Amino acid sequence: MQAPTQPQVLAGQKALVTGGSSGIGAGVAVALAQAGADVVVAYHSSADGANEIVAQIQALGRQARAVKADVSCRDDVQALFEQSIAAFGTLDILISNAGLQRDAAFVDMTLQDWQQVIDTNLTGMFLCCQLAAREFLRRGPRPVSRALGKIVCMSSVHEVIPWAERANYAASKGGVKLLMQSIAQELAPKRIRINSIGPGAIKTPINREAWETPEARDKLLELIPYGRIGEPEDIGRAAMWLCSDAADYITGQTLFVDGGMTLYPEFADGG
Ligand code: NAD
Repeated sequence: MQAPTQPQVLAGQKALVTGGSSGIGAGVAVALAQAGADVVVAYHSSADGANEIVAQIQALGRQARAVKADVSCRDDVQALFEQSIAAFGTLDILISNAGLQRDAAFVDMTLQDWQQVIDTNLTGMFLCCQLAAREFLRRGPRPVSRALGKIVCMSSVHEVIPWAERANYAASKGGVKLLMQSIAQELAPKRIRINSIGPGAIKTPINREAWETPEARDKLLELIPYGRIGEPEDIGRAAMWLCSDAADYITGQTLFVDGGMTLYPEFADGG
């Protein structure tokens, strides 16, 4: 068994990560396990990817399960939560991370391009957050955490930065911002903490064309004052901290983890 590399700030906690078979979700799932959590790795299509993350988590001495679910489908989300709660007894943490892009010039964007992105990124978020909150309320306080439960919504810098030819994606993340804040306001009295992470450019399959070639990489780096493209581990550490008691007084916030992308770098030389 591998030695733990992090303080066990999530010891005894049970987490569910959607989109956990790749990219940011995989990085977060492993980071939560390194901090002591058992993790359900929810996946859409890559059973191999999910099983690989499950194996990494088990090698850390934690429990893990791979469960297939389409977050835009109510029945799938219901079954995902039922299976997760049957496996672990309850859930303390939801990382609502599944998302996708279907880019198109606005005048060419089909209703299907629009609907698929909204259904996954926003409606999927609604469905998962609702079932997580219901489970936190059903089972009551646990000694493992000061909060009744914690939710992290995977938003984007595009909850504030408009994005041409991706109106569907930016609208979905703008929607996530006010969904997150509204339910954080509603559920704070119940001691449920809900926050978002707004990643900048993180090296994952979703944006491969933006970092794969040296030319694309150089162009992308112009948008990142800190001078490097992010890694899933950068988001994993932020999610782990947001879910820990160290962040117990934080709710309704978006933590941008973006190397300064939201600092309007084009104004750095006076604009
Ligand atoms: P990714 O493509 O590796 O991960 C997205 C995951 O969501 C995949 O595992 C995919 O199978 C899953 N998914 C897609 N549709 C689904 C559905 N209907 N049901 C269940 N799962 C589904 O890309 P990523 O970069 O890791 O993206 C993760 C999240 O981070 C997304 O919400 C994305 O919008 C957000 N994000 C990413 C970046 C970045 O630079 N990579 C920046 C900002 C925000």
